[in-house]
Amino acid sequence: MAFRIIPRSEWGAKYGYGPHTRQLGNLEKWLHHSVTVAPDTVAPFTDDYAAIRTIEKIGHQRFGSYGFPYTFAFTPAGLIFEGHPIDRVGAHTQGHNTAGAGFVLVGNYENMRPTTAQREAIAWTLRHGVERGWWKTPGLNGGHRDTKSTACPGRYAYAEIGEINRLAAAGGVQLVNRPVPTSPAQIRLDVDGKWGSDTTTALQVVFNLPIKDGIVSRQAATWEDDNPGLTTGWQWLTSGYDAGSPTIRALQEFLKAKGFYTGKLDGLIGPQTIAALQGYLASVGAYTGSADGEIWKPSTTVEALQRRLNTGRL
Ligand SMILES: [Zn+2]
Repeated sequence: MAFRIIPRSEWGAKYGYGPHTRQLGNLEKWLHHSVTVAPDTVAPFTDDYAAIRTIEKIGHQRFGSYGFPYTFAFTPAGLIFEGHPIDRVGAHTQGHNTAGAGFVLVGNYENMRPTTAQREAIAWTLRHGVERGWWKTPGLNGGHRDTKSTACPGRYAYAEIGEINRLAAAGGVQLVNRPVPTSPAQIRLDVDGKWGSDTTTALQVVFNLPIKDGIVSRQAATWEDDNPGLTTGWQWLTSGYDAGSPTIRALQEFLKAKGFYTGKLDGLIGPQTIAALQGYLASVGAYTGSADGEIWKPSTTVEALQRRLNTGRL
C-alpha cells in the first residue's frame, strides 16, 4: 500500500495549533487511541476525513488555542493524517509534549484491533521520520499508559507496539509498494502461500469490484488465529463485523455459482468458505490438498489460489 501523510490543508484543519515551537532531531514517539468512532476501511474515505475533524474539534474544546492535539493520526484503512505541525508542541502526552510526537489510532482499541494497514502506516511513518530527521530511531517509545495511569492506547493497540517496532526496524518487504493491477492480465502475484493485500487486490480485480484496495474489511477476530496465512490487509474485529467484506461475499457468490458453497453470503471468511475454495481449486486441478477449511502459513491453498489468479481468472 502506498503511504503518504495527508496535510492539514487537505483534510480541512479549522483551528490553529499551540504557540510553542521545538527542536527536531530526537523526538520520542508515543502511541494513543482517540476513543472516537472508527471509520471503515472502504472508499470513499470521507468518513476518515470527518473523523479527523471530529478529533480536532474535541481537541480545540479541551485545549483552547490548540486544534488537533496529536502529531499524526492513523485510520483503520491505513490513511495517515498530519495533526499539529511536527515542529510545534502538541497536547497528547503530559510531560512529553515538548520532547515527543503523539501517534493516535482513530477508534477505541480497548475493543478492536489495529488493522494491518494501520500497523504498516505507523511503521512507515516511523521510518519516514528518521529520513526527515525528526527522530533518530524508527521505534515507538511506548504507549500513553507507560507515562501515566490511563487505558490509552487500549489493550489491543498496546499489545501491538512490539510488532510495529519490529516491522519498522525490518523495513523492506512489507513496506515496498508494488504496481497495482487494473486488469486481470496484469496480475503478477508472488506464489508465496500467504494471503495478503496483493492477493486480495488480485481477487478484487478478477471480480471487477468497484473498490480494489487490497483490504478485506470487517472480519471476525475468532478466525484470525486459526488462519495464520491470512496476513496483510485483513481487518480483524471483535465486534461490529456483521456487514462482512464485499470481497469475501463476491468469493462466496462465485463458489456458490460453481456449486461448492452452500452457506450464507455473509462476507465473512471461515472454515466453510475456505473449504469451498479448496474444493473449487481442486476441481480445476490447481490444488491437491484436503478441504480442511484452514489457511496455514504458508498455505498450499493460497499458493493454488495465487497460481490460478496469475492466469487472470479464478
Ligand atoms: Zn493517550
